[in-house]
Amino acid sequence: MALTVVGSIAFDAVRTPFGERERMLGGAAVHFSLAASFFTEVRPVGPVGDDFGGEQFELLEARGIATEDIERVAGGQSFFWRGHYDFDLNVAHTDDTQLGVFGEFEPKLSDAAKSADTLFLANIQPDLQRQVRAQCPAGFSGLDSMNLWIETAKDSLTAAIEEVDCLVVNDAEIRMLTGESNLARAARAVMEMGPQAVVAKRGEYGAALFTGTGAEDQSFFALPGFPLEDVRDPTGAGDSFAGGFFGYLDGSGGDLDEANLRRAMGYGTVLASFNVEEFGTERVSRLQREEIDERFEALRGMTQFEGVPAPRG
Ligand code: AMP
Repeated sequence: MALTVVGSIAFDAVRTPFGERERMLGGAAVHFSLAASFFTEVRPVGPVGDDFGGEQFELLEARGIATEDIERVAGGQSFFWRGHYDFDLNVAHTDDTQLGVFGEFEPKLSDAAKSADTLFLANIQPDLQRQVRAQCPAGFSGLDSMNLWIETAKDSLTAAIEEVDCLVVNDAEIRMLTGESNLARAARAVMEMGPQAVVAKRGEYGAALFTGTGAEDQSFFALPGFPLEDVRDPTGAGDSFAGGFFGYLDGSGGDLDEANLRRAMGYGTVLASFNVEEFGTERVSRLQREEIDERFEALRGMTQFEGVPAPRG
């Protein structure tokens, strides 16, 4: 199986209470691809400037990521994001966003990118997400977005959401998008737009999965964030979650039954947890598959509830 992803490919400047980096590899499609690379063949699509060099390509290729659809624009500047977090690491404050070469990007997917089984439209301008969707009819597709696009490009974002199977966004963004303060109602409102599944990311509190809208097929599942004592930089946690989730689903043959969706939630949670342990891509770029499986088992152990005997008396 194979997975195509479009989304920002970036340099990030990030400050948290635990340190800062002035320029590091980042971007939604980068964090997504690194996480998904543990499970399947992943191909990011997008432009970079000539500030994006051998070092960045090598980091991606070392994880087996196919980089042929990353287009280098001579004389251009890569997407740049500057942000900071105060003591509440769940809230990212954006200080600067420069689209750079994304501003003029007209995606033309290679045959390999077009024929992927799974497509993920990671965070980027929704018109671009739609242009990529139009070229890639993948059987299973997902989408992420953020408050900036809900505020500035809502119609286009709504049209993009209508064209995918699964929406993966922050809980606050689902509320903002639908105008519903109750998360279950907001998820249902999204599913009435088209997607059959909604994943609400809740930062350190984990993620919730909603499927089905009818009395018979409605289902809910949630996992906490993996408990960590050292969190340094939450940037890319949501993208790493999505990479683990969609990467696992694609790599396991695209099986979308409830059990496999729940496993995918587990892998998403685990990949996000590794991502936040260090800045940017530092931790995930040297992660080993065995570490993922070990943490997945630990998470499975700590979230068992069905096996707990019914209350006495
Ligand atoms: P996350 O922390 O998972 O929500 O994603 C953080 C990543 O999103 C960073 O690496 C940024 O480069 C990227 N990013 C920030 N703002 C935007 C934006 N407006 N569009 C696309 N990507 C963005």
